[in-house]
Formats: sequence, C-alpha cells, structure tokens
Amino acid sequence: MTKRIVLIGHPVAHSLSGAMQQAAFDHLGIDARYELWDRAPIELADAITELRTDDFLGANVTIPHKERVVPLVDRLTDEAHATGAVNTLTREGRKLVGHNTDAAGFKVALDQLVGRQRMPRHAVVLGAGGGARAVVYGLIREGFQRVIVFNRHLHRAEGMVKHFGRSAAHMELRAMPWHESIIEAELAKTKVLVNATSIGLVDEETPVSAEAIPPELLVLDLIYAQTRLLRDAAAAGCTTADGETMLLHQGAASFTLWTGQAAPLDVMQAALADARAHGLRSAEGEPAAPATASTDAAAPDATSAVDEDPSATDGASAADTAG
Ligand code: NDP
Repeated sequence: MTKRIVLIGHPVAHSLSGAMQQAAFDHLGIDARYELWDRAPIELADAITELRTDDFLGANVTIPHKERVVPLVDRLTDEAHATGAVNTLTREGRKLVGHNTDAAGFKVALDQLVGRQRMPRHAVVLGAGGGARAVVYGLIREGFQRVIVFNRHLHRAEGMVKHFGRSAAHMELRAMPWHESIIEAELAKTKVLVNATSIGLVDEETPVSAEAIPPELLVLDLIYAQTRLLRDAAAAGCTTADGETMLLHQGAASFTLWTGQAAPLDVMQAALADARAHGLRSAEGEPAAPATASTDAAAPDATSAVDEDPSATDGASAADTAG
C-alpha cells in the first residue's frame, strides 16, 4: 500500500519540499506519496487526528502551524521542546511525535557559512517566527554569547527570548525594537546576521539598507533565493548564503525520520535546483494571497508547479508557498 506523507500548512499551493521529498522516495523505490494539505488553523486539530492511522508515515508542518501543532502531539523531541516549534511529525502506533529538523538544517547552514573561521560569538537575528526559533536555538547550542533579536512585532521577539530563558541564562539573548538605527548599531558590533523574516521572499524588499551592512559580516538569509539583502551584503564584502542548505538538510533529516534510511542528498538537491530553475523562490511558507478554500493535492512536480494556474487551486501565488 502506498504510504502517505503530508505537508500541512496554509497555504501550501506549491512546495519545494514536495518536489524534493517525492524525488527522494522515487529514487529509493519507496512506495510513498507526498501530499499537500492546505488547512486553516481551525482545521489543524482534525488534520492531526487523521494522521494517526497506518496509511501515514508522517508529516511536515509549515507556516502558520509550527508553533500551534506543539500541544496537539503526544511527545516532543528535545529540539522541538527547546524551540517550541515542530516541522516534522512521525508516528509511533497511534501516537504522534513532534520533531524540529529546522534546527539540524540551520546547524549545517551555519557551519558552511562560517567555514574554516573560528565560530563567532555574536549574532543579530531578524525575525521571531518558527524559523527564527530554530536559528536562536542553534546559536545558543553553538556557544554564542550575545544574540540580539529584532522583530517587527517586538512582543513576539520578547516571547521567544522568554521561551529560551533558562537555556540562554549564561549568555545575552535580547529582543530589541525594529528601528533602522538600532539595527545598524548592532550590526556594527556583530559578526553574523541571519534573516529569518520573510522580507524579500516575494519582492525586492530588504530588511536592512545596504549602507547599514558592514563589510566582513557573515550573512545567512533563510529565504531560498538571492535576495536583495544577500546581493547588498555581497557587494559590501560580506560572506553570504541563502536558505538552500538549511532547506535541504531539514528535509533530509525528516526523510530519515520517516523512512529510517539515509536521504539521497544529491537527488534532493537536484530536485530543489530544478524547482528553482522553474521560478520557485521561497524556502517555505510564503505569505501568499489569501486562500479561499482548503485543498488537498499530491505534490506537484517541479514543472507543473509553475505551469498551473494557481487561482485554479487555492488562490495562492505562483511562487512556492511551503517548505
Ligand atoms: P513565520 O510566519 O513564523 O514568521 C515570519 C517572520 O517574518 C516574523 O518574524 C514576521 O514578523 C516577519 N515578517 C514578515 N513580514 C514582515 C514585514 N513586512 N516586515 C517585517 N517583518 C516581517 O515564518 P517562518 O519563521 O516559518 O519563516 C520565515 C522565513 O524563513 C520565510 O521566508 C521562510 O521561507 C524562511 N524559512 C526557511 C527555512 C529553510 O529551510 N530555508 C526554514 C524555515 C523558514 P512579525 O512577527 O512581526 O509578523
């Protein structure tokens, strides 16, 4: 019987994870189908209940449900508990386990960005959503001593800092209000900048003006594209990386959790590159046009993902909307 793995988000019209995971299942001859479930928050609990049957290997969870799904599972792994966010579900009988593989993906991305240099100790993080939680968790684990979080809605950043309270007791983890001058002052004192907001995902907006970016910064944008931030940073002399490595490695970790097998990284990377070549930009969770109805769809292949008329499915934009 074909096993089912679903991505639950809202919206999830087109998914890079769909292309990447289906390619991995097919390559290893695993009889499994990656499906996209567009579920509004009010429908989340029912969707989670549905996963408790033998048909399902597990699920991915994306915007806006990563934090909401936490109380709906039976057990959390250490990473999921520590971050307060779940992006992967596995099944143990009728019980569901919540994992956070974004954390593992971020670690690989950070290590690659830093390269042979000594791991820095100071970072600025922009954003306080599910992705930012994995980032801050990773920075704490990596031994960073000063991490400043800026978020448009300050209270959300403050909530995140409070969540990490005890695990960050030995260091300085602070939320600060989103003001250009304060961000610029902090960037002048730091070594690493991570953009974990969705600014730049669908347009040429940038969270930080080019003038505010000092040279020699290490800049990671979780968005899977050469955003304006990354281009400005490269022009200023910084080392930069986009969200591809994190996306690939969180996906590989999820694949292994579901199947018990090593993920075919090359195949998954090729599927991602193919999807990108067809115009998909985002890593996950694009805040697209409002979805009008819940829809189920098997993962589109990389080609059909952009050929379809998005309005014919759920009103989401033609770019990728889910991880
Ligand atoms: P969330 O919806 O949980 O958080 C979105 C974040 O972006 C919030 O901090 C939000 O601020 C901020 N934001 C959105 N629009 C604006 C704006 N116009 N101005 C200022 N701030 C804004 O999403 P995630 O944390 O899950 O994802 C965030 C980004 O990270 C996305 O682009 C996603 O693609 C990427 N990502 C990539 C991953 C990868 O594997 N490469 C993994 C996870 C995420 P506020 O709270 O004030 O609304």
